[in-house]
Amino acid sequence: MKPRVLHRRRRLALPACLAALALLVVATAVFGQEVKDLIVGPATAYNPIHDHAPSALEESQFRRVYDALCDASCGPIKLTRNITVPTAAMVVQLRGARLIYSPTFMDTIMKIYGPSAPLGVFAHELGHLLDFRRGNVGWMHNSWDRELRADSWAGCALAKLNMPQRDTSGVLQALAQSPTHSHPDWTKRVEALKKGYAQCGGQPHILDTLPLEQYGQTSASPNQ
Ligand SMILES: [Zn+2]
Repeated sequence: MKPRVLHRRRRLALPACLAALALLVVATAVFGQEVKDLIVGPATAYNPIHDHAPSALEESQFRRVYDALCDASCGPIKLTRNITVPTAAMVVQLRGARLIYSPTFMDTIMKIYGPSAPLGVFAHELGHLLDFRRGNVGWMHNSWDRELRADSWAGCALAKLNMPQRDTSGVLQALAQSPTHSHPDWTKRVEALKKGYAQCGGQPHILDTLPLEQYGQTSASPNQ
């Protein structure tokens, strides 16, 4: 009896092993994709347990940027507050994209720069998604890293939003504060922003008369 049981176990063991192997391959493929998620921004401590719905104002500002900048390549994006994110970040997963941001950071920049302040931050993060989905587009320098390409998309969004100079100034000052640790020098960011702004039909007199270089010298970030 005993050898027969063992034999049956062996016969069962091979398909079971093959099934487990197949499951492992599938799981690796799926999970590997998850691990390779694009998480751009200082979001290494991001914990989805703390996800919360945005405020009505944040949601409406996000919609403005989304409608101005996004085509079908953006797809649906979930806007999410999360206290574990220092400033803001874009997360791209198999199940969809998510723009996550710190409510503290967002409250701070809105208090200092006004209710339009989230526009630039959201535009930069959407820029990461467009960059991820579409790659380097014609007007961008080959030497630009993905942060500068995202900034250039943000400049494009500002052009399309066509805001008065005062609002544009506040938005750019807020953008200069986010996120500061992983980004290139502000002077290079200004160059990328200007290029995107001009490329998308922005009014030259609005940016040209703003002291953009000075915006990188102040700090409103709660995480500096
Ligand atoms: Zn970024």
